[in-house]
Amino acid sequence: MSSHIAAEAARRRTFAVISHPDAGKSTITEALALYGRAISSAGAVHGKGDRKGVVSDWMSMEQDRGISITSAALQFEYRGCVVNLLDTPGHADFSEDTYRVLTAVDAAVMLLDAAKGLEPQTLKLFEVCRARRIPVITFINKWDRPAKDALELIEEIETRIGIKPTPVTWPVGVGGEFRGVIERVGFGDRRDGSETDGRRAAGPQAPGMVRYERSPGGQQLAVAEYLDEAAAADLFGPDFERAREESELLTEVEADFDPKTFEAGQTTPTLFGAALVQFGVGQLLDLLVDIAPSPFAREDAAGSPRELETGFSGFVFKSQANMNASHRDQLAFIRVCSGKFERGMQVTQAQSGRTMSTKYAQTMFGASRDTVEEAWPGDIVGLVNATGLSVGDTIYTGKAVEYPPLPAFAPEHFGALQMHDTSKAKRFRRGIAQLDAEGVVQVLYSERRGEATPVLAAVGPLQFEVTVARLAAEFDVPATIDNLPYQLARLTDADGAARLRTAPGVEVFSRPRDGAFLVALPNKYRIQTIVNDHPGLVLEPLLAGG
Ligand code: GDP
Repeated sequence: MSSHIAAEAARRRTFAVISHPDAGKSTITEALALYGRAISSAGAVHGKGDRKGVVSDWMSMEQDRGISITSAALQFEYRGCVVNLLDTPGHADFSEDTYRVLTAVDAAVMLLDAAKGLEPQTLKLFEVCRARRIPVITFINKWDRPAKDALELIEEIETRIGIKPTPVTWPVGVGGEFRGVIERVGFGDRRDGSETDGRRAAGPQAPGMVRYERSPGGQQLAVAEYLDEAAAADLFGPDFERAREESELLTEVEADFDPKTFEAGQTTPTLFGAALVQFGVGQLLDLLVDIAPSPFAREDAAGSPRELETGFSGFVFKSQANMNASHRDQLAFIRVCSGKFERGMQVTQAQSGRTMSTKYAQTMFGASRDTVEEAWPGDIVGLVNATGLSVGDTIYTGKAVEYPPLPAFAPEHFGALQMHDTSKAKRFRRGIAQLDAEGVVQVLYSERRGEATPVLAAVGPLQFEVTVARLAAEFDVPATIDNLPYQLARLTDADGAARLRTAPGVEVFSRPRDGAFLVALPNKYRIQTIVNDHPGLVLEPLLAGG
């Protein structure tokens, strides 16, 4: 059994695609799912004929709700690996959700729009990946359209983010003149010189080979063809010469792929492509299978790694109630960290010590759900009606374990939630507790306002809208929000909370979710005066990135 767990873990690749909105995340997700062989039977995508499959279901669900909730993960098989692609919301206001998803992955794919380069959301997400040492593969998308210069893009990433791109493909031409890419490393099965899918291999390591893709007349998708250097030079002339020179230059500046620095999060293997015509998507999947880390022993809250074979454990990285009208229930999404999950097993919730059954375990695939019988490290399991499980909670069997709490983002928006119909106070409290457990918004209380008026803290104002909309729709409690004049928050301790209780212009809150004390401030200048007025005060920044 033990070696079975290790073997199943070794063939898992669990990652998320992150990007600034509009860079092509939905497009590439669909393309990846089409490329891989979907495992889930219901709603599975088997080929191009079902192209509508995944994404449209997914999106109609989002539209129903008017917010980006989507599913949790797609799972598919590719070259003998099981690929788990976790979904992240696109909008910056939900970056806290994205952050939580990033705690559940072993690698990330950062998607850039070739014409725009680094955008605000890209910068923040890269920062989060770097802080968490998540290995990042970069995919520069939309190369079929006019784009920034490839070398400039590479330099921009290196200077602005401090992660060195190591291009594994290099583009020949751009926009309407996009000819293909030089593969600077061997991909997939072609690494050992064998043939794949009838495509001809060019040698053991194939730098210099050009993967040339073109759209067949009238059809949308690109068709791959391999050319050796002589043929490419013949066909593409100066475009190819230039690309080859640039590629050599990259070698000179030591921008060649290096597994060690990639795994340490210091370099980012970079691909050029066009998700819309599925150019480069196969290479991306090959790269994930070849180089992305498989699940490894995770550190618990005390910092000691839990070996993969130490019995089942996992943590909740996402929780969602009332996902749609036909499934009015609560789903807790678990990332399996160690051991084998078997449906029906009794697990212990680390935070409460309570045991619970896992009879209703599901995978999510687009809008449809399948019962899941077993799962391995790296997999995502949705537990239905897992009331009492909040985002960040750990569950396990056998040896006890508790994974570190999921850090909350620094809120930048604060609002007092007003409920006007006192006869609904009980429902109001239930709704607030539910949305807090899901991590939709941070719920705070101040002595000044009391229990009846919670204060909501958010990274983006859309989180407020979602809170109010869901309170009305799911709990039948109309509520309004009065914006408060605070723009940032700092953590303090009980002593600090007591000292600042009457300080002007600031407000002290307790956060029941983790028992923390937060000080909300109107601007950063006020931090300085507070510190000056209260020597020795504990005032710590929260995780930035909203
Ligand atoms: P998301 O907001 O990141 O999920 O972006 P979408 O996948 O919705 O894509 C945004 C827009 O860019 C859509 O109109 C796509 O058709 C388009 N798009 C995505 N990938 C490509 C590409 O490779 N080439 C071109 N020309 N357009 C693309």
